[in-house]
Amino acid sequence: MKIFNPASGEVLTELPEDSTESVLEKYKKLKSAQPSWASRSIAERVACLGRFSDLLEKEKDQLALTLTSEIGKPLKESYNEIKGARDRIRFFLEKSEQYLQDEWIILDGGTREKIVYEPHGVVANISAWNYPYLVGVNVFVPALIGGNAVLYKPSANASLTGLHIQDLLYRAGVPKDIFEIIVGRGSVIGDYLLELPLNGYYFTGSYQTGKHIAEKVASKLVPCQLELGGKDPVYVMDDVERIDDVAASVLEGTVYNNGQSCCAVERIYVHEKIFDEFVESFARQMKELKIGDPLDDKTQIGPLSKIEQRGFLLSQIDDAVKKGATVLSGGKVMSNKGYYFEPAVLVNVNHDMAIMQEESFGPVVGIQKVSNDDEAIRLMLDSPYGLTSAVYSSNFDRAEQVMKKMNTGTVYMNCCDRVSASLPWSGRGHSGIGSTLSYHGIRAFVQPKAYHIRG
Ligand code: NAD
Repeated sequence: MKIFNPASGEVLTELPEDSTESVLEKYKKLKSAQPSWASRSIAERVACLGRFSDLLEKEKDQLALTLTSEIGKPLKESYNEIKGARDRIRFFLEKSEQYLQDEWIILDGGTREKIVYEPHGVVANISAWNYPYLVGVNVFVPALIGGNAVLYKPSANASLTGLHIQDLLYRAGVPKDIFEIIVGRGSVIGDYLLELPLNGYYFTGSYQTGKHIAEKVASKLVPCQLELGGKDPVYVMDDVERIDDVAASVLEGTVYNNGQSCCAVERIYVHEKIFDEFVESFARQMKELKIGDPLDDKTQIGPLSKIEQRGFLLSQIDDAVKKGATVLSGGKVMSNKGYYFEPAVLVNVNHDMAIMQEESFGPVVGIQKVSNDDEAIRLMLDSPYGLTSAVYSSNFDRAEQVMKKMNTGTVYMNCCDRVSASLPWSGRGHSGIGSTLSYHGIRAFVQPKAYHIRG
């Protein structure tokens, strides 16, 4: 399997892909070793993941360089991602014992009752490429701490990072027969994972793949948790104070990681009273973004991670323009070698256009004018996705009326594109089922057993 550098379009290296035979072998090994891992104390498992976090810090220079070379994100964003992953791991290290220990419900009387949290067994962690450390640690860290063995399938586009992760976990003390990586393309070797009798499927990726996985594993009746895409809206009310600052914040949510974030801002609604001023500021700041070599410290926008994404973004822009949209800036493939694409902002958009309905997963966004909060709410809700939504306002009560009505797993006021380890990360509708992070994301990897004890 060829691994490309998106900044040059050249082959970085080639990796051997797993075969169905090698995957089956790995599965059998995990299956027989998992009970011994589960029998270790939680503290012992936590300590292994603590050492993994220390190694991430110690080797961050090499890890960040690899991440940038295979994904194309600016090097400083790669460092940020590794730091962010360590923050999340710290949450799991500090909180897991509290949420996994036996819970006595009734301690005395005729029948004592308690809840014990047991691992599922061998679980699959099928992962996306856009934040391989972040979406990876959301799953394999609590899964391992919970006593599961993990069959980890990173995206083919993040295979080198996946191999680093495996190496660091082994060096941290996670046994080799408790964590195994599968290298290969999703549609080939990923699909084979769905045939195996695994005890749980934890998937991060697109709606299309998530739906396929859910359908294929449904008859196994094991947990199938899906963290999928989004078409996340922002509404800017007319009472915001500093429009330039608001535009800067929304722009960052639109273009960070080149818009290749599940919770990137993908639709913007602005109150008509401030529409022109907001659009002028947003477009001006977008034009000022420094696009270039991801290894350059000043670069804010690197290449897209996948070459085919350029054609997809162009087709969304083309569809919008044909239906009456105006491109205010960007929207073109750049001539540099590598997968560079100018971030684009469009106005005169509406919900007949794919750009306001389908996930773009790139640095393009439409801004639509609204005349009041009700219209904004109606448009924000007009999507099959339900990951995040945001409101910018100087009035909490007014913003809260909007946040309460959103059918999304996360709502933001005066911020966007943000994840906290202590809060559940969950989608609704086409954005998925189940939660990672927070205590929900610790308990997602264990099953409760009820004890009724007499005598
Ligand atoms: P994808 O669906 O193409 O692939 C995700 C993973 O599934 C990869 O490891 C891939 O190899 C594997 N896969 C593909 N086909 C498979 C099959 N038939 N059987 C088993 N596995 C298969 O998604 P992607 O391009 O890697 O990631 C981008 C998507 O992920 C976007 O939609 C983005 O919004 C979403 N995402 C969501 C979150 C979240 O937390 N909600 C986080 C990151 C990314």
